[in-house]
Order: sequence, then C-alpha cells, then structure tokens
Amino acid sequence: MAKVYACTGSCKAIIKVEQFEQGLTKCGAKGCTMRGHDFRPVEQCPDCALKFAEGKLQTCPECRPL
Ligand SMILES: [Zn+2]
Ligand SMILES: [Zn+2]
Repeated sequence: MAKVYACTGSCKAIIKVEQFEQGLTKCGAKGCTMRGHDFRPVEQCPDCALKFAEGKLQTCPECRPL
C-alpha cells in the first residue's frame, strides 16, 4: 500500500505525500463538493489504484484476495 492524500469530494483528486508537505493541503478544484477542505490521508493500492482508509488494510482485497 502506498500512502497518498485524497480529496473526498466530487473531484476525487489524488496527491502525493511530497505535494502535501509542500503546501498543497486543500482541494482547489472548481465545482468540487469538498473545495477548500483538507485532503485526507489514504492508502492506495499500487496495482489497481483502489483507495482505502489509512491503516485499515495491509493488502488489497482486489489484487490479493484473502
Ligand atoms: Zn476536490
Ligand atoms: Zn489492488
């Protein structure tokens, strides 16, 4: 799992940790339902790009079924 930051609004933007640390901490997408709100830390599967709440899963159930 790779840690990224995601907008939980309608734009569904994904940003890298480095971008977040450089000051990109809020969504600024036009028309996004969460514009002006902080991005949330999430885990993203590097294989299928599915996103999960941080710390919830160690492996992706889509790529590695239990
Ligand atoms: Zn957004
Ligand atoms: Zn996956």
